[in-house]
Amino acid sequence: MEGNFTLSIIKPRAVQKGFIIPILEKCHEAGFRISAMKLVQLTKKQVAGFYKEHEGKSFFESLVEFMSSDRVVVILFEKDNAVADFRKLIGATDPSEAAPGTIRNLYAESKEKNAVHGSDSDESALRESDFFFSKMERF
Ligand code: AMP
Repeated sequence: MEGNFTLSIIKPRAVQKGFIIPILEKCHEAGFRISAMKLVQLTKKQVAGFYKEHEGKSFFESLVEFMSSDRVVVILFEKDNAVADFRKLIGATDPSEAAPGTIRNLYAESKEKNAVHGSDSDESALRESDFFFSKMERF
């Protein structure tokens, strides 16, 4: 299973703007298969737990506020080399630096409201998928 999955979140602003389907389409075209998915509004406590490695940073409070402000789509994607390929598909954290055609280049507003999350390593993908999904919820 290592290297075969990554955890993504379509963030509140992208959901509000109606970008769920266009983003999922880009992921489908790039060969990602949905293994688990849910539409949820996260609590501040859940967001703080999810982003705990950023606790104390200047943007942490704002990030928690934003990510808990409305619904998000949490998705477990499966594909060979999933983490690296997904990060290539979404582009740089800052949309002004994201390569043309990447999801953040097309759908993000700012470094914070950057449309999607993607796991940064296989270890993170495992921790993040366990954070959101039970084994029963994965296909
Ligand atoms: P990362 O774990 O690198 O994906 O960062 C988590 C999220 O925090 C990013 O997707 C951004 O939404 C946000 N973020 C990271 N760095 C900054 C920053 N310098 N300013 C504002 N938001 C940031």
